[in-house]
Amino acid sequence: MIRSVIRRLPQVVWLRAAFTRPFSAAAVPAPNTEPEIHFNKIFINNEWHDAVSKKTFPSINPATGEVICQVAEGDKADVDKAVIAAQEAFKFGSPWRRMNASDRGVLINRLADLIERDRAYLASLETLDNGKPYTMSYAVDLELVVKCLRYYAGWADKTHGKTIPIDGDYFSYTRHEPVGVCGQVIPWNFPLLMQAWKLGPALATGNVVVMKVAEQTPLTALYVASLIKEAGFPPGVVNIIPGYGPTAGAAISSHMDVDKVAFTGSTEVGHIIQKASGTSNLKKVTLELGGKSPNIIFSDADMSTAVEQAHFALFFNQGQCCCAGSRTFVEESIYNEFVERSIERAKSRVVGNPFDPNTEQGPQIDEEQFQKILNYISSGKREGAKLLCGGGVAADRGYFIQPTVFGDVHDNMVIAKEEIFGPVMQIMKFKTIEEVLERANNTKYGLAAAVFTRDIDKANYMSQGLRAGTVWVNCYDVFGAQSPFGGYKASGVGRELGEYSLEEYTEVKTVTIKVPQKNS
Ligand code: ADP
Repeated sequence: MIRSVIRRLPQVVWLRAAFTRPFSAAAVPAPNTEPEIHFNKIFINNEWHDAVSKKTFPSINPATGEVICQVAEGDKADVDKAVIAAQEAFKFGSPWRRMNASDRGVLINRLADLIERDRAYLASLETLDNGKPYTMSYAVDLELVVKCLRYYAGWADKTHGKTIPIDGDYFSYTRHEPVGVCGQVIPWNFPLLMQAWKLGPALATGNVVVMKVAEQTPLTALYVASLIKEAGFPPGVVNIIPGYGPTAGAAISSHMDVDKVAFTGSTEVGHIIQKASGTSNLKKVTLELGGKSPNIIFSDADMSTAVEQAHFALFFNQGQCCCAGSRTFVEESIYNEFVERSIERAKSRVVGNPFDPNTEQGPQIDEEQFQKILNYISSGKREGAKLLCGGGVAADRGYFIQPTVFGDVHDNMVIAKEEIFGPVMQIMKFKTIEEVLERANNTKYGLAAAVFTRDIDKANYMSQGLRAGTVWVNCYDVFGAQSPFGGYKASGVGRELGEYSLEEYTEVKTVTIKVPQKNS
């Protein structure tokens, strides 16, 4: 029923437009606005543990600022325990190492089944802990989680090497072997989805995992831990530690027995993780970091689509997306109309209780991000950008910010250079294709970009010239488990999703065998 309501709501039409394929065929059931908290401890060896220090920390509901519950605070001692459990699970000859690759696929699919079974509960818990609208949690995040796991379940028995005829009386073959103990540090903006992006390829290729979840959003990952056990994964294959970055996260990235670290988060912490690898054991590193992605609207674009998609590109998920289209470049001849329509759209954005099916925008994740965004808004005003709408706090409690649009933004302003990670749109004007290409690339980041035009030549020229890991043409934020995602420049190292992610979780072993030339 709610889905039919959604279909009629103009405010959320964009959701269906942007997620046409992944949008669930299933109805969106009513949320559970007070989901029971079943798990708040550390998950090691398929068991629940208090922190060695016995410390806990609060998980906060960002819509109210109230404490949801206390959660065990993992630290170095807990990471050490988890790494030992993971090493044991990875021992040569262990049940996990001896398991048929196809059976690993069966387990991952079973996990996807269990997540589907508990989808409404998980979506409700995600909304409570993260603040994202429940319709998004259910219809977008959970949909993509299940699809991601099923996609990698399919790969489990399809990653294999080559037979190579080398010079001399020999031949070589390659084995694609798991890297080993994979440390995974994930952020709070898509807690369940980032967990799936990390677990899918790691488990499909036979690795073991020590995952640290974000301190702001530990609850859904811990519930998924219980499903990992229920699905039948052997103890120690996946270990999940809630805790803080500089303690538990740093213990993973500097651990001498962690073979790889995969991180999603800020570029600032990406530098720290890369360094920690360099000064410890040179563990493999993959990083999915920040961005300041250009979204380029040419005058021949379909205006309604461009306005709606540019709005979506920035405001989706409360603006808390690493690939947010946070520099909107608009060609001079349509600039005024585009700006007018973007203001109108931002003003109509429904901000409020994330459990209300009409809500498009919930609260920001926490007090720190909330203040940071407000500071960026002040900086935009100070530097002379034109505040066209919003700019303030949207509710008297919780971390709600008004959808904000700045016009007349110049490339050298702080709001045009730094990642704001909030509902604040920057619109800039351009005259020529060469000019906009140069300005779009003039950033330390290179995560994503988009182009809106009806001219195929312009689209191709820009797609090739833009230095970014993803270029969307006449669309934005379209994700599929099948397509790789990752950044150029300071936006990251390596790729997630698709077949490419499997390479990040495997070592290639060459076995060379002598072939006798006569049977002596
Ligand atoms: P954000 O600024 O969006 O919160 P962060 O990069 O700070 O992003 O956080 C992403 C993840 O990285 C979180 O799980 C966080 O706890 C973790 N983290 C933060 N600092 C460190 C660190 N020094 N070492 C390892 N992990 C960290």
